Amino acid sequence: MTTTHTTKAHILGFPRIGAERELKFAVEQFWKGEIDESALAQTGNALRRQHWQWQKDAGLDFVAVGDFAWYDQMLNASALLGALPARFGFNEVGGLSPKDLSLKQYFELARGNAEQPALEMTKWFDTNYHYLVPELDENTAFAGGVDWFFYEIEEARSLGHAVKAVLPGPITFLYLAKAKTAGFDKLSLLPKVVAAYARILERLAKLGVEWLQLDEPILGLDLEPEWLAAFEPVYRSFAYTGPKVLVATYFESVAAHVALLRDLPVAGVHLDLVRAPQQLVAFASNWPANKVLSLGVVDGRNIWVSDLSAILARVEALQGRNIWLSASCSLLHVPVDLAQETKLDEELKGWLAFAKQKLQEISVLKRALSGADVSAELSANAEKVASRGASPRIHNPAVSARIQGLSEADARRHAVFATRQAEQKLRFNLPPLPTTTIGSFPQTKEIRAARAAFKKGTLAQNDYVEQMQAEIRLAVEKQEALGIDVLVHGEAERNDMVEYFGEQLSGFAFTQFGWVQSYGSRCVKPPVLFGDVSRPTPMTVEWTQYAQSLTQKPMKGMLTGPVTILQWSFVRDDQPRSVTTKQIALAIRDEVVDLETAGIGIIQIDEPAFREGLPLKKSDWAVYLHWAAEAFRISASGVANQTQIHTHMCYSEFNDILPAIAAMDADVITIETSRSDMELLTGFGTFKYPNEVGPGVYDIHSPRIPPVEDMLRLIAKAAEVVPVELLWVNPDCGLKTRNWPETEAALANMLEATRQARQHL
Ligand code: GLN
Ligand code: ZN
Repeated sequence: MTTTHTTKAHILGFPRIGAERELKFAVEQFWKGEIDESALAQTGNALRRQHWQWQKDAGLDFVAVGDFAWYDQMLNASALLGALPARFGFNEVGGLSPKDLSLKQYFELARGNAEQPALEMTKWFDTNYHYLVPELDENTAFAGGVDWFFYEIEEARSLGHAVKAVLPGPITFLYLAKAKTAGFDKLSLLPKVVAAYARILERLAKLGVEWLQLDEPILGLDLEPEWLAAFEPVYRSFAYTGPKVLVATYFESVAAHVALLRDLPVAGVHLDLVRAPQQLVAFASNWPANKVLSLGVVDGRNIWVSDLSAILARVEALQGRNIWLSASCSLLHVPVDLAQETKLDEELKGWLAFAKQKLQEISVLKRALSGADVSAELSANAEKVASRGASPRIHNPAVSARIQGLSEADARRHAVFATRQAEQKLRFNLPPLPTTTIGSFPQTKEIRAARAAFKKGTLAQNDYVEQMQAEIRLAVEKQEALGIDVLVHGEAERNDMVEYFGEQLSGFAFTQFGWVQSYGSRCVKPPVLFGDVSRPTPMTVEWTQYAQSLTQKPMKGMLTGPVTILQWSFVRDDQPRSVTTKQIALAIRDEVVDLETAGIGIIQIDEPAFREGLPLKKSDWAVYLHWAAEAFRISASGVANQTQIHTHMCYSEFNDILPAIAAMDADVITIETSRSDMELLTGFGTFKYPNEVGPGVYDIHSPRIPPVEDMLRLIAKAAEVVPVELLWVNPDCGLKTRNWPETEAALANMLEATRQARQHL
């Protein structure tokens, strides 16, 4: 006999920040002492209630509880498990108990205090969310911590909600943690971690919680066998107590683990069918009838309206089976509510769905599969999808013709590096160890105020231009006084390195409230890249030309690269990312060529997000690196040999992608290296990186003025691994977050260190 199951609907998590970033503002007020703990708690309560109510109103079968955090969900898990670091006084005999963790201490873990730096922060898989890395050692007790999670469950139940509790899974938690003692094997802590989770499961059972979702996204990574082997025994140990367990995977295909997941003694498994739609085939056949298969069909990483009929066509065959419908991953990665957007035109708005709208989509899908009549909803949806598919705002034949017409030569400079280098040497006649900066100079209150007033319309265009030109003059004078070799205009007119370009390119739109949590109280508002990209008019030429008119020294033009613009935007899902990047590359190429025509001889194309774009699985790296480097070259290759192309990348591990960095073929790359004490540069040496390199000699994140000796030592260290003829001297990154006195003092020391280094050549 076959039982028919009713299809259920749920989400893995909702954004916690609030539609109006209420959490951000409350938390920041709490930090400043402007509100007390109970006021902050009230904001948290209100947000959770609202988000649960929205899930219920949409007709979802459960509300997700446990997705809330004052700062970060991984820190919450550390606090729940009792896995807090000894250096903050926890875990020691007679030390603080994680059970008594106060909100103030919680935020100290997240942000540091007078004695201790914060927990390390790192990217959550390939998203722009950053989590706090749990810090473990052999003494970490995992003896339980704060009860916040359980209170939230009681809170939801008291409101009459059907609760699905949500936590990071034990194996993912441990995998993402950092062992503090060198050589310590984290996996040896697994029994303690599992025991802590078992106690949590017991408590959930006592609270009457039916379902617990444990997120194990590491299943989408290239997982070492010993970690993979942990899944069966760990989940078997949970099988006999507590709530039913749903193991959630996302961001990648887990088709390689279909047998493991099918046989795992859990009640259900969630799949990301947006990132990896093809894995459904492997799971749908042979899936046990009594095990839930949760289908993540609505995109949790992007803001487009789903094509509901297309989704239904894909999952229809599973009707009557034990399936749940959901978003691909937690909705943490999308903004909260589209309804707030009053400035977007109706057509474009019709193409978008934020978290709240996605709840509706999931609900319609569920009702459709349950046999309800949702024809009105489906046809309204089909209209939106069709409008987007056919809109001339999206499809620009001139852009596709240009892409079609690209040849291999368009992605190559006219001559090889050695030839270019020789021509550039003759043209610029720079001293050895040439000095430069990364682009931005201090963004003072006055600059921000002027930009804001101009945007609001309260500062006239002329006055604005005059004020920005005055800033450029100031920056040029200061650089000349310091004796820097290659100058920059300082980027005073730019609010953000992607937004500035997005605002001037066709194919981009901007939201008012499209905020997404990046870390803690920090949010970003990515531009929406909705259509074919082109550049109607020059974007930076006038400012750069003005700056060049003030000096005899070369003025470096400053642009954001195609991969970074892609990475930091919400991008189209109707064409491959590689094609979108190529379009951006062509728009940037137009700007590069116009800068050259305007007499600018050195042009920097920043690619700080180049590494961020790497796929989660190593086997996919080569394809990405190929098109990413090619896109950069397309943007850079419209110019003559004697025009010097720079690029810049922030702190990242370069060693494993050096061939791709070399394939970008920038004449000069400036990188952030000082925090690694130049270690990051050694790879460039062993790889024999062929072009010129500017390893950052001081950390711009700190107000500390680096002494001359420190920088001299770093320059010497750099010269040990990279031939000195290829070396530049520059700070690690842009200086916009610093003030002028710090900046001038630090740069003066940098120039003195360079002067001394040159004497030893
Ligand atoms: N040119 C940019 C600046 O100086 C680069 C910023 C970055 O690397 N993120 O601010
Ligand atoms: Zn940088």
